[in-house]
Amino acid sequence: MKIGGLQQVSLIDYPGKIGAVIFTRGCNFRCPYCHNPELVDPDRYGPIIPEESVLSFLDKRRGKLEAVTVTGGEPTLQPDLEKFFEELKKRGYLTKLDTNGSKPDILEKMISKRLVDYLAMDIKAPLEKYRQIASVEVDTAKIKKSIALIMASGIKYEFRTTVARSQLGLQDLVSVAKLIKRARLYVLQPCIPIKTLARPVLSEIPYTPEEFSIIRATLEKVCPHVIVR
Ligand code: SF4
Repeated sequence: MKIGGLQQVSLIDYPGKIGAVIFTRGCNFRCPYCHNPELVDPDRYGPIIPEESVLSFLDKRRGKLEAVTVTGGEPTLQPDLEKFFEELKKRGYLTKLDTNGSKPDILEKMISKRLVDYLAMDIKAPLEKYRQIASVEVDTAKIKKSIALIMASGIKYEFRTTVARSQLGLQDLVSVAKLIKRARLYVLQPCIPIKTLARPVLSEIPYTPEEFSIIRATLEKVCPHVIVR
């Protein structure tokens, strides 16, 4: 695993649990609002943290930490992701995987082998706008397949969308909500233009809390459980 970051304690990444967060390096998308450019842009890559030192840290924290979230970058690009999750399960940790949903074949394996306890998938945009938001060609059939797999998995999950005014309007979000009708949880994440992959996003004017209330109320007519986080 190419690990580009380790957050030793987080109270917010795994719902209801105290956990660590592991950041894998490398991503196949280039979302302009990405707030982890050092994990996405090879020119900004930092040093790799050896996997052994991360596992040794987790060995020492057994009984204190309950969960491990693996996020990115895009973790499903890591060829040894499955093996790494086996190591986490051997140590008794609850596991959460964050993904952009571009690799349903990997998700299918992780789900069928019961290696993951919580899945969080980013849905970038309505399918027809994926190319624009991800800034690369995206096979949207794979996005749809990942959504279906996750919803049928029996595992706790959430879908999430980062909401930037310059990228997505209300009708776009309604289209996303229609893709995930009856989803267990749909999380709207305001874009925070502090550190981003693309500079123009830094001058983004975020939606106001009042605007988010309207967005949320509108989406809840389609998808019953919507929160702003
Ligand atoms: S926000 Fe986009 S570019 Fe950044 S890690 Fe997630 S999928 Fe990759």
